[in-house]
Amino acid sequence: MYIDGNWVETGSTFDVFNPANGEKIGEVADGDASDARLAIEAASKAFATWSTTTAYERYEKLHRAYELMMEEQSSLAELMTREQGKPLKAAMNEVKYAADFLLWFAEEAKRLYGETIPSARSDQRFLVMKQAIGVVAAITPWNYPVSMITRKVAPALAAGCTIVLKPAEATPLCAMAVFRILERAGFPAGVLNLVTCDSPAAIGEEFCSNSVVKKLTFTGSTAVGQKLSQAAAPQLKRVSMELGGHAPFIVFDDADPVHAAKGAALVKFLNTGQACISPNRIFVQRSILEPFLETLQFRISKMKAGDGMQEGVAIGPLVNQQAIDKVDNQVRDAMDKGASLHCGGERLSKGELDKGFFYSPTLLSEVNSRMLIYREETFGPVAPVIVFDTQEEVLAMANDTHYGLAAYVYTRDISRALRMFEGLQFGIIGINDINPTSAAAPFGGMKESGLGREGAREGIDEYLETKLAGISI
Ligand code: NAD
Repeated sequence: MYIDGNWVETGSTFDVFNPANGEKIGEVADGDASDARLAIEAASKAFATWSTTTAYERYEKLHRAYELMMEEQSSLAELMTREQGKPLKAAMNEVKYAADFLLWFAEEAKRLYGETIPSARSDQRFLVMKQAIGVVAAITPWNYPVSMITRKVAPALAAGCTIVLKPAEATPLCAMAVFRILERAGFPAGVLNLVTCDSPAAIGEEFCSNSVVKKLTFTGSTAVGQKLSQAAAPQLKRVSMELGGHAPFIVFDDADPVHAAKGAALVKFLNTGQACISPNRIFVQRSILEPFLETLQFRISKMKAGDGMQEGVAIGPLVNQQAIDKVDNQVRDAMDKGASLHCGGERLSKGELDKGFFYSPTLLSEVNSRMLIYREETFGPVAPVIVFDTQEEVLAMANDTHYGLAAYVYTRDISRALRMFEGLQFGIIGINDINPTSAAAPFGGMKESGLGREGAREGIDEYLETKLAGISI
């Protein structure tokens, strides 16, 4: 763990495994609430000076961290593929995306503008300024084990906050590698701290109940996000929540079904479906169902599963056995209730694949609202297709979920695109576009997909207080 500028160990450790072959790849300190407390104290001490540095000093360190991360792009990507399983090319892309947050928020540090507001009194002036909120506690998931860290750490540090991070237990090695880079960038002791552990509940409890922590930022499942929000409520602690999703992917019959199916194949199977913005219900207008399914099935049939270090692999392993069971349960349930299986639908266990958590890329059609997959986040390589007839019908179906993170629409009709953009109750909408994400664009969900936004101009606001001075002159 990295606490107060030192790499420290505890008595106990836990093992980290490669999900593609079950091999042990590391051993990491198993911290507890007392380690989290030490890290919070260190962050509190460091806040006194870090929060008074100039924006230009903070810019310089974050910019240096960006350069170092790009220098380490290949080694960090290789570690990510071994620890998390995604294909090496996707891991390279993630490191670039992660580094982009360091660069974006290095620049944003210099734009923490305040404002003056006209008063109704001639002898009064209003002055508004932004100030760092204080010590931040952050919890991140395993599916994007580098970028989910920089998406929190970069804006927090740019704002002048100090931070304690607890990464996911499946991917602590990536977190340690990120912190080594940040250490080399020259941040003073205590400004950033890393606490690793195997069982997160006690540290989560410390983050929520310790009054020194002024802000909790979490990315993970909705169930855990709700629990942490409740635990943080007695102190009215500020929270940001980036939670689960259940993205609709809607294809109207004025769109090119082949182009749309290529897009669906790319975004659905990205990271083996383990993405919060992964399409979870693919709605296709009746008259183009056939060519759409044909292209999607063809694309899926060409996807090769395996160790992400191997050339040509598109489908990496799932994170663990529970993930395989959840995906398989949704597929069985859908088939029991009348879905048609076009391909996949089973765990892959031939040869080397048996040592990892591989599930075959799967295509289901005739999916309906009685099926688990229609409501539950899948987080796996299953494309469920649902047919629809009208725009009103598909809008109602798409919005019929507690989630509200990402949605996708394919149409060539500009009026329809705008009406869908306005009507969909989701925070991120791709219109004929499967990658509506960037460090410069606000990322976040509505409804039970979360609170707050990450990235963009909004991303730094999450770490700032607005302060008003009313001045009599
Ligand atoms: P998870 O909620 O199980 O775990 C996420 C993090 O929370 C991990 O660090 C874990 O150790 C920690 N955690 C778990 N229980 C905790 C507790 N009781 N107290 C404190 N911390 C606890 O989720 P996951 O399976 O790791 O990640 C997948 C989920 O994350 C999916 O639902 C996905 O949609 C979501 N996600 C959302 C975004 C987004 O930006 N909205 C991005 C990536 C992932």
